[in-house]
Amino acid sequence: MNKYTLVVGLEIHVELKTKSKMFCQCSADYFGKEPNTNTCPVCLGMPGALPVPNRTAIEWAIKIGQALNCKINNHSKFDRKHYFYPDLPKAYQISQYDEPFAVGGELVIASAAKQSNSKEIATSTTSPRNDKTFRITRVHLEEDTGKLTHEGDDSLVDFNRSSVPLVEIVTEPDFDNVEDIKAFLEELHTIIKYLDVSDANMEEGSMRIEPNISLMLVHPPSSGHPLPEGGPAHDLPFKGSTPPKAEGGMLRELPHYKVEVKNINSFNFAKKAIEYEMIRQAAILDKGETPTQETRGYNEDKKITYSQRSKEDAKDYRYFPEPDIPPIELTDKEIEDIRSTISELPAERRARYVQEYNLKASDAALLCRDIEISQYFEKVLAHIDKGFEVNVSNAIINKKISTDLSPEDFAKQLTEMAKPKEVDEDKLASVIASVLSSNPKQVESYKAGKTGLLQFFIGQVMKEMKGQADPQMLQKLIEEKLS
Ligand SMILES: [Zn+2]
Repeated sequence: MNKYTLVVGLEIHVELKTKSKMFCQCSADYFGKEPNTNTCPVCLGMPGALPVPNRTAIEWAIKIGQALNCKINNHSKFDRKHYFYPDLPKAYQISQYDEPFAVGGELVIASAAKQSNSKEIATSTTSPRNDKTFRITRVHLEEDTGKLTHEGDDSLVDFNRSSVPLVEIVTEPDFDNVEDIKAFLEELHTIIKYLDVSDANMEEGSMRIEPNISLMLVHPPSSGHPLPEGGPAHDLPFKGSTPPKAEGGMLRELPHYKVEVKNINSFNFAKKAIEYEMIRQAAILDKGETPTQETRGYNEDKKITYSQRSKEDAKDYRYFPEPDIPPIELTDKEIEDIRSTISELPAERRARYVQEYNLKASDAALLCRDIEISQYFEKVLAHIDKGFEVNVSNAIINKKISTDLSPEDFAKQLTEMAKPKEVDEDKLASVIASVLSSNPKQVESYKAGKTGLLQFFIGQVMKEMKGQADPQMLQKLIEEKLS
């Protein structure tokens, strides 16, 4: 197993939560509706029905591209991708082929190993040295398909989801472990939620993952496996890929096959599917064979992947430009106008919490992971004095105060907790008297000049009072008694 390195690229589908579908006026909110009640001639693919692109969906796809540091193309277009499947009424899907909205981005994440170590992350807030950069190949827009369900021998198709706007995010094959994939998907999920363009709910299928998985041998430099010069010598498994750079004196050569696992709707399933594939592919490679390039499904019950069909090449889809939709032309100003609608993204917010509020980077990460929590945090700050930001953060993270409270009540409770407690003065006086009378030697020494014993008395009284006393007041009272 150790002689192989995992190579994974990701395709992530995100359903946008626009009001209407991608090319018609039907509602895009199909979840839980009576089957086939949310359709029209356009999304049922009736002959002669004309698609009209959804402007908001285009802007949101571009926003996702911008949030992932992509270049936004001034010129892009929709294409028809042909394949025959019962959930696709037109027998083609309107997608984007060679001119997508966004290309060539990257997402930087703190490496998974670092994230679990709060101490190290705290010392590397401004320029973390162990952050990893994952390249984004492209971000494009397409329409979702209908949904098949199987009951006994029957297959049923529901077209309510047909033509719901779907953004596809494609990464380069930059992942070599599942922890990084998890960290990447979490950050991507957070970004999508911050952009407020999708529910990104994995259980309901509004965010779906398709890992492209292969295994690679790592050759020492002397083994006669140089990197291909001027680009790959063989078919690279990913269109437009550049081979990863040589690392640690080892040369890397991308494998000449990839296995795609379709429509996984939870990170844990993705992890299990990848781990299963690593074992399955290693066994094939060990025999000196190459795994078949194919698309596989994941069986959640048996925890195995299974062959669905051999992987199509782009040419099998007979892509051609969608003749019913003119190309999309965007000026630089229009692109910048879309960018200006993006408010603070998670990375910026984390940095601001560290700088402005002196939070530990790990705490800032915890607060910012869920946009609702970070919004709650800021609403509480509006009701609290400056300088208490760390207290608010601690109270939220350690669940000292319930976040079910209104931000105002949360702030009140926190202020209450920070106040020194009202002390029963009679009780305090009697506790002081009893501590002094039960430590006569120490009292004698104190009176003889060992004034350092004051701390001893304060400590004893504090212990009796279970911490419910103001140390400064205690000091004053004890000094009075002993003088
Ligand atoms: Zn429709």
